[in-house]
Amino acid sequence: MRKHIVAGNWKMNNDLAQTESLISELKQQTKTSNAEVMIAPTFTNLWHAFEATRHDDIEVVAQNMHFSKNGAYTGEISAEMLKSIGIQTVILGHSERRAYFNETDESLAKKVDAALANDMRTIFCFGEELADRKSGNHEAVVESQIKNALFHLEASAFKHIVLAYEPVWAIGTGETASPEQAQDMHAFIRKTLESKYGNSVADDMTILYGGSVKPGNAKEIFSKPDVDGGLIGGAALKAEDFYAIVNAF
Ligand code: 13P
Repeated sequence: MRKHIVAGNWKMNNDLAQTESLISELKQQTKTSNAEVMIAPTFTNLWHAFEATRHDDIEVVAQNMHFSKNGAYTGEISAEMLKSIGIQTVILGHSERRAYFNETDESLAKKVDAALANDMRTIFCFGEELADRKSGNHEAVVESQIKNALFHLEASAFKHIVLAYEPVWAIGTGETASPEQAQDMHAFIRKTLESKYGNSVADDMTILYGGSVKPGNAKEIFSKPDVDGGLIGGAALKAEDFYAIVNAF
Protein backbone atom coordinates (compact mmCIF):
# COMPACT_ATOMS: atom_id res chain seq x y z
CA MET A 1 0.00 0.00 0.00
CA ARG A 2 1.25 3.43 -0.93
CA LYS A 3 1.60 5.65 2.12
CA HIS A 4 2.38 9.22 2.91
CA ILE A 5 5.58 9.46 4.94
CA VAL A 6 7.51 12.43 6.23
CA ALA A 7 10.85 11.41 7.74
CA GLY A 8 13.30 13.72 9.47
CA ASN A 9 16.92 12.77 8.90
CA TRP A 10 18.77 14.49 11.73
CA LYS A 11 22.18 13.53 10.26
CA MET A 12 25.06 14.20 12.71
CA ASN A 13 23.13 16.76 14.75
CA ASN A 14 21.82 16.90 18.33
CA ASP A 15 23.49 15.54 21.45
CA LEU A 16 21.42 13.86 24.16
CA ALA A 17 20.10 17.07 25.73
CA GLN A 18 19.22 18.51 22.31
CA THR A 19 17.55 15.26 21.34
CA GLU A 20 15.46 15.35 24.50
CA SER A 21 14.35 18.89 23.91
CA LEU A 22 13.58 18.49 20.20
CA ILE A 23 11.52 15.38 20.95
CA SER A 24 9.55 17.17 23.64
CA GLU A 25 8.86 19.99 21.18
CA LEU A 26 7.82 17.49 18.50
CA LYS A 27 5.39 15.92 20.94
CA GLN A 28 3.67 19.27 21.41
CA GLN A 29 2.91 19.60 17.69
CA THR A 30 -0.42 18.59 16.23
CA LYS A 31 -0.65 16.31 13.26
CA THR A 32 -3.50 17.13 10.90
CA SER A 33 -2.41 15.00 7.94
CA ASN A 34 -2.39 11.26 7.39
CA ALA A 35 1.39 11.12 6.91
CA GLU A 36 3.46 8.64 8.90
CA VAL A 37 6.05 10.57 10.88
CA MET A 38 9.60 9.30 11.36
CA ILE A 39 12.71 10.75 12.93
CA ALA A 40 16.26 9.48 12.49
CA PRO A 41 18.50 10.62 15.35
CA THR A 42 22.16 9.58 15.70
CA PHE A 43 22.98 6.10 16.98
CA THR A 44 23.82 7.34 20.48
CA ASN A 45 20.36 8.84 20.84
CA LEU A 46 18.26 6.11 19.25
CA TRP A 47 17.40 4.33 22.47
CA HIS A 48 16.45 7.52 24.25
CA ALA A 49 14.37 8.67 21.27
CA PHE A 50 12.67 5.29 21.01
CA GLU A 51 11.72 5.32 24.70
CA ALA A 52 10.65 8.97 24.63
CA THR A 53 8.26 8.44 21.69
CA ARG A 54 6.95 5.03 22.74
CA HIS A 55 3.39 6.34 23.15
CA ASP A 56 3.47 8.84 20.29
CA ASP A 57 2.72 8.70 16.62
CA ILE A 58 6.41 9.02 15.72
CA GLU A 59 8.62 6.17 14.50
CA VAL A 60 12.30 6.30 15.38
CA VAL A 61 14.52 5.02 12.59
CA ALA A 62 18.27 4.55 12.07
CA GLN A 63 20.41 6.47 9.60
CA ASN A 64 22.61 3.54 8.59
CA MET A 65 23.78 0.05 9.58
CA HIS A 66 26.32 -2.59 8.64
CA PHE A 67 25.36 -5.68 6.64
CA SER A 68 27.00 -8.19 8.97
CA LYS A 69 25.37 -9.57 12.07
CA ASN A 70 28.39 -8.99 14.29
CA GLY A 71 32.17 -9.32 14.18
CA ALA A 72 35.38 -7.36 13.77
CA TYR A 73 33.92 -4.18 12.24
CA THR A 74 35.04 -1.47 14.62
CA GLY A 75 32.60 1.38 14.83
CA GLU A 76 29.73 -0.39 13.09
CA ILE A 77 26.21 -1.37 14.14
CA SER A 78 24.12 -4.29 12.86
CA ALA A 79 20.46 -4.79 12.03
CA GLU A 80 20.24 -7.20 14.95
CA MET A 81 21.48 -4.50 17.34
CA LEU A 82 18.99 -1.97 16.01
CA LYS A 83 16.18 -4.46 16.32
CA SER A 84 17.19 -5.30 19.86
CA ILE A 85 16.26 -1.76 20.91
CA GLY A 86 13.03 -1.74 18.92
CA ILE A 87 14.14 -0.02 15.71
CA GLN A 88 12.26 -1.36 12.68
CA THR A 89 13.32 0.93 9.87
CA VAL A 90 16.71 2.00 8.52
CA ILE A 91 17.76 4.63 6.00
CA LEU A 92 20.28 3.16 3.56
CA GLY A 93 22.30 4.67 0.73
CA HIS A 94 22.08 8.33 1.66
CA SER A 95 24.28 10.36 -0.70
CA GLU A 96 26.43 11.48 2.24
CA ARG A 97 27.14 7.82 3.05
CA ARG A 98 27.96 7.18 -0.59
CA ALA A 99 30.18 10.26 -0.93
CA TYR A 100 32.06 10.29 2.40
CA PHE A 101 31.98 6.64 3.51
CA ASN A 102 32.49 4.84 0.23
CA GLU A 103 29.14 3.13 0.11
CA THR A 104 28.60 1.44 -3.22
CA ASP A 105 25.69 -0.21 -4.98
CA GLU A 106 27.27 -3.56 -4.02
CA SER A 107 27.59 -2.82 -0.30
CA LEU A 108 24.11 -1.30 -0.31
CA ALA A 109 22.63 -4.42 -1.89
CA LYS A 110 24.08 -6.39 1.05
CA LYS A 111 22.69 -3.90 3.56
CA VAL A 112 19.24 -4.11 2.00
CA ASP A 113 19.45 -7.91 2.22
CA ALA A 114 20.45 -7.72 5.88
CA ALA A 115 17.53 -5.39 6.64
CA LEU A 116 15.10 -7.75 4.88
CA ALA A 117 16.53 -10.79 6.64
CA ASN A 118 15.73 -9.02 9.90
CA ASP A 119 12.23 -7.96 8.86
CA MET A 120 13.27 -4.35 8.86
CA ARG A 121 11.92 -1.70 6.55
CA THR A 122 14.46 0.15 4.39
CA ILE A 123 14.25 3.73 3.21
CA PHE A 124 16.54 3.40 0.21
CA CYS A 125 18.09 6.68 -0.99
CA PHE A 126 19.58 7.53 -4.35
CA GLY A 127 19.89 10.52 -6.64
CA GLU A 128 22.04 12.12 -9.28
CA GLU A 129 24.74 14.76 -8.92
CA LEU A 130 24.60 18.15 -10.56
CA ALA A 131 26.89 17.10 -13.42
CA ASP A 132 24.55 14.18 -14.22
CA ARG A 133 21.57 16.52 -14.33
CA LYS A 134 23.43 19.02 -16.51
CA SER A 135 24.50 16.36 -18.98
CA GLY A 136 20.99 14.91 -19.14
CA ASN A 137 22.18 11.69 -17.52
CA HIS A 138 20.04 11.90 -14.40
CA GLU A 139 17.56 9.19 -15.32
CA ALA A 140 20.30 6.75 -16.31
CA VAL A 141 22.16 7.34 -13.04
CA VAL A 142 19.05 6.83 -10.92
CA GLU A 143 18.04 3.76 -12.91
CA SER A 144 21.43 2.15 -12.34
CA GLN A 145 21.44 2.98 -8.61
CA ILE A 146 18.05 1.29 -8.24
CA LYS A 147 18.82 -1.69 -10.44
CA ASN A 148 22.22 -2.41 -8.93
CA ALA A 149 21.09 -2.32 -5.32
CA LEU A 150 17.53 -3.66 -5.54
CA PHE A 151 16.83 -5.64 -8.69
CA HIS A 152 18.15 -8.90 -7.27
CA LEU A 153 15.14 -8.87 -4.89
CA GLU A 154 11.90 -10.79 -5.22
CA ALA A 155 8.80 -8.69 -5.86
CA SER A 156 7.50 -9.46 -2.35
CA ALA A 157 10.52 -7.71 -0.80
CA PHE A 158 9.30 -4.35 -2.05
CA LYS A 159 6.61 -4.31 0.62
CA HIS A 160 9.44 -3.57 3.02
CA ILE A 161 11.07 -0.85 0.95
CA VAL A 162 10.43 2.86 0.65
CA LEU A 163 12.35 4.78 -2.00
CA ALA A 164 13.77 8.24 -1.45
CA TYR A 165 14.86 10.29 -4.44
CA GLU A 166 17.36 12.88 -3.25
CA PRO A 167 19.13 14.79 -6.02
CA VAL A 168 22.56 15.54 -4.54
CA TRP A 169 22.53 19.10 -5.88
CA ALA A 170 19.41 19.87 -3.84
CA ILE A 171 20.63 18.56 -0.48
CA GLY A 172 21.40 21.27 2.05
CA THR A 173 21.86 23.79 -0.76
CA GLY A 174 18.57 25.63 -0.47
CA GLU A 175 17.98 24.68 -4.09
CA THR A 176 15.08 22.27 -4.52
CA ALA A 177 14.17 20.28 -7.54
CA SER A 178 11.11 21.97 -8.99
CA PRO A 179 7.88 20.11 -8.29
CA GLU A 180 7.87 19.16 -12.00
CA GLN A 181 11.42 17.81 -11.85
CA ALA A 182 10.50 15.76 -8.79
CA GLN A 183 7.31 14.48 -10.43
CA ASP A 184 9.11 13.55 -13.65
CA MET A 185 11.76 11.59 -11.78
CA HIS A 186 9.28 9.87 -9.48
CA ALA A 187 7.19 8.81 -12.48
CA PHE A 188 10.37 7.51 -14.12
CA ILE A 189 11.24 5.54 -10.97
CA ARG A 190 7.79 3.97 -10.94
CA LYS A 191 8.17 3.06 -14.61
CA THR A 192 11.55 1.49 -13.90
CA LEU A 193 10.00 -0.66 -11.17
CA GLU A 194 7.07 -1.56 -13.38
CA SER A 195 9.35 -2.77 -16.17
CA LYS A 196 10.75 -5.48 -13.93
CA TYR A 197 8.13 -6.13 -11.26
CA GLY A 198 4.86 -5.12 -12.87
CA ASN A 199 2.09 -2.75 -12.07
CA SER A 200 1.23 -3.52 -8.50
CA VAL A 201 4.79 -3.23 -7.12
CA ALA A 202 5.20 0.06 -8.98
CA ASP A 203 1.81 1.42 -7.93
CA ASP A 204 2.21 0.45 -4.29
CA MET A 205 5.72 1.87 -3.91
CA THR A 206 6.02 4.86 -1.60
CA ILE A 207 8.50 7.29 -3.15
CA LEU A 208 9.78 10.20 -1.05
CA TYR A 209 11.47 13.34 -2.30
CA GLY A 210 14.40 14.84 -0.36
CA GLY A 211 16.44 17.98 -0.90
CA SER A 212 15.74 21.37 0.70
CA VAL A 213 12.09 20.63 1.49
CA LYS A 214 10.81 23.48 3.67
CA PRO A 215 7.42 24.57 5.03
CA GLY A 216 7.19 27.02 2.13
CA ASN A 217 7.62 24.51 -0.70
CA ALA A 218 6.34 21.23 0.77
CA LYS A 219 2.72 21.63 -0.27
CA GLU A 220 3.54 22.14 -3.92
CA ILE A 221 6.01 19.25 -4.04
CA PHE A 222 3.62 16.90 -2.19
CA SER A 223 0.77 17.84 -4.52
CA LYS A 224 2.44 15.92 -7.34
CA PRO A 225 0.81 12.55 -7.97
CA ASP A 226 3.96 10.43 -7.74
CA VAL A 227 5.46 12.19 -4.70
CA ASP A 228 4.36 10.30 -1.60
CA GLY A 229 6.28 12.19 1.05
CA GLY A 230 9.57 13.71 2.02
CA LEU A 231 12.93 12.96 3.58
CA ILE A 232 13.78 16.15 5.40
CA GLY A 233 17.20 17.32 6.58
CA GLY A 234 17.66 20.87 7.88
CA ALA A 235 13.97 21.64 8.38
CA ALA A 236 13.54 18.50 10.50
CA LEU A 237 15.66 20.09 13.24
CA LYS A 238 12.91 22.58 14.13
CA ALA A 239 9.71 21.05 15.49
CA GLU A 240 7.38 23.65 14.03
CA ASP A 241 8.94 23.55 10.58
CA PHE A 242 8.94 19.77 10.57
CA TYR A 243 5.25 19.55 11.45
CA ALA A 244 4.39 22.24 8.95
CA ILE A 245 5.88 19.84 6.38
CA VAL A 246 4.13 16.81 7.91
CA ASN A 247 0.85 18.72 7.67
CA ALA A 248 1.47 19.84 4.10
CA PHE A 249 -0.42 16.76 2.89
P1 13P B 1 18.05 19.01 3.41
O1 13P B 1 16.57 18.96 3.66
O2 13P B 1 18.81 19.70 4.50
O3 13P B 1 18.37 19.52 2.04
O4 13P B 1 18.56 17.49 3.45
C1 13P B 1 17.90 16.54 2.71
C2 13P B 1 18.43 15.20 3.09
O5 13P B 1 19.56 14.88 2.83
C3 13P B 1 17.53 14.30 3.85
O6 13P B 1 18.08 13.02 3.95
